[in-house]
Amino acid sequence: MNLPRQNFDAYVFSKQPGYDEPTFRKEFAKAMALKTVVIYCYDPRVVDIPAAVAREFGEVHPGDIITDAQGNKIATTRSLFEVVVAGGRAIDALRSVTVAQHLFGIKNVVIVHHTYCGATSFTTDGIIDAHKHEHDADISAIYERESISISDFETSLKHDTRLMRESKGTPQHVNIYGYLYDIDTDELSLVVEDKGLIPA
Ligand SMILES: [Zn+2]
Repeated sequence: MNLPRQNFDAYVFSKQPGYDEPTFRKEFAKAMALKTVVIYCYDPRVVDIPAAVAREFGEVHPGDIITDAQGNKIATTRSLFEVVVAGGRAIDALRSVTVAQHLFGIKNVVIVHHTYCGATSFTTDGIIDAHKHEHDADISAIYERESISISDFETSLKHDTRLMRESKGTPQHVNIYGYLYDIDTDELSLVVEDKGLIPA
């Protein structure tokens, strides 16, 4: 592998001449039409979840990438962004929601768990014990127990929508939804709806 000789700072917004944080933030929000963040599983069988959620919420997905006269990619028409994590668990998406709000502003957070998910194939004690034996490491204290595996979907979706709501990084105006996605019929079933506070 060749070592790059470029000055990587040239690609960093905060290192640009005349950089001003509030101005850049406004420009970012204008360039991205984001309204809804969808959190779902990295299982390749559920790759159609964002499209299903976009239909349900009337969002633009996948949308188009907008380029400037020089061909640089500067914006997008997509209004639904994806956070793809094991089991679609909220614990792995909290920071992404905070950043999405800060840069673009959001209205909805949609958490989707799916039928026959790998996260339902093991138990929390099972993975903790296996990791201890196979990797000689104790993971019991690094993730909260309720976020590790899924034993029933109502419990996991209620837990995750509450975790998202109670996070200080989630703005209070955001609507939070929990859905179960059927991988064979491509259908979404609403399990939790938690409307945000209307800003005063
Ligand atoms: Zn899954």
